[in-house]
Amino acid sequence: MKPDIKAQTQAELQAQFRSWGEPLYRAAQLLRWLYVQRVQTWDAMTNLPAELRERLAKTYTLNTLALVARQQAEDGTQKFLWRLPDGALVESVLLGASPALYGEPSDRHTLCVSTQVGCAYGCRFCASGLGGWKRNLAVEELVEQVLAAERWHAAGQAGGRVSQESGGAEERRSRGAEEQGHVSRLVSPVSHIRSQEAGLRSQESGVKSSPSRAACPSAPLPLCPSARVIRHLSRIIDNLVIMGMGEPLANYDNLLEALRILNAAWGGGIGARKITISTCGLAPQIRQLADEPMQVRLTVSLHGATDQVRSRLMPVNRKHSLAQLVAACEYYLARKGRMLTLEYVLIAGVNVGPEHALRLAGLARRLKAKVNLIPYNPVEGLPWERPDEAAQEAFLRALVSRGVTATLRREKGREIHAACGQLRLKTERMAG
Ligand code: SAH
Repeated sequence: MKPDIKAQTQAELQAQFRSWGEPLYRAAQLLRWLYVQRVQTWDAMTNLPAELRERLAKTYTLNTLALVARQQAEDGTQKFLWRLPDGALVESVLLGASPALYGEPSDRHTLCVSTQVGCAYGCRFCASGLGGWKRNLAVEELVEQVLAAERWHAAGQAGGRVSQESGGAEERRSRGAEEQGHVSRLVSPVSHIRSQEAGLRSQESGVKSSPSRAACPSAPLPLCPSARVIRHLSRIIDNLVIMGMGEPLANYDNLLEALRILNAAWGGGIGARKITISTCGLAPQIRQLADEPMQVRLTVSLHGATDQVRSRLMPVNRKHSLAQLVAACEYYLARKGRMLTLEYVLIAGVNVGPEHALRLAGLARRLKAKVNLIPYNPVEGLPWERPDEAAQEAFLRALVSRGVTATLRREKGREIHAACGQLRLKTERMAG
């Protein structure tokens, strides 16, 4: 099987090019096509000689993620459902980091990345594990989530203007639904293909139509792009949270390799400190991560401050007990000197009473950790409920009054099923 081009480091590509007798600047050109222009075909790499493109195509795959569905919540959060080359489905969620000044759309974005198809850890409250675990994502599938989300985000922004000009019925319908306060599926696979075809047709016939070109992520780029196109081509996502479907540290090698590529100046260019890995508590891999040179951030999904509560919610606690987890976190802290975050999902009648807050505060102080409280996001078919707001606030106050830095998350994108695995679950249930 051919390796994928987006799993290659700069050094590997340079070695390959050297062995082919190609000048090294060709490797730089190739990397620019992949990570700056985000092209999806070899043919789009117009400044590479045709023979080199052919050789690359024979040696590597250039797989991209196919969009199955995209949903947008009122707060701007977008959820993408991707189909992988083998037909498996995974999700990524794009969150606007902060509203920019003067009513312009936010230009800082965080992408929530999935690391596995399904999940083997079976946390009792989570949708991702309901269908079991299928496989790890490959390096290129991890890297591609960033590029594909940016492609579609840029296309969506330009696409709104296109449909205004051309008056596309489908887009008009979805805008109408949005205006009425409903969440709508902005792009269906069919409308995407149609807009791609329209973009290509207008290019072939020489019609000057830059908005529809910008609306089509795979259309070849003009040699001298306009300022707007350049904006769309620069990195849109500057924060990564590895908190989508799956357990990141159970796909350790692929994840770390993908993060090296996304972090490298020649690749994604996303700062290591802007990358947060979330784990359900794999103690040995937390220690391994502590020994990595890359300065990524770590979040631990705690959800229970005693073995009893934690084992009830998270079967992984039977393998790596709270004591082992805390010891691994202390090792991480000692090695990295960096603050950890503890995630704590608030579930009514399970982990929200004052005694839980007391225990959690003790652990957080011991680990010098910040606590992120997340009101439980209901999953169809699961029995758990979120506590009322008064109970959420009381829990927050109980932590803060004990000197713990804590935040209560108003989670984004609730109406688009933005919690892990929920869109995939819904789509698979509808399909079958
Ligand atoms: N496996 C990793 C990352 C994926 S889950 C981990 O466990 O950290 C990302 C976060 O969302 C975790 O803290 C997880 O416990 C939480 N989560 C999962 N389902 C949720 C739900 N229905 N409501 C709120 N948070 C949820």
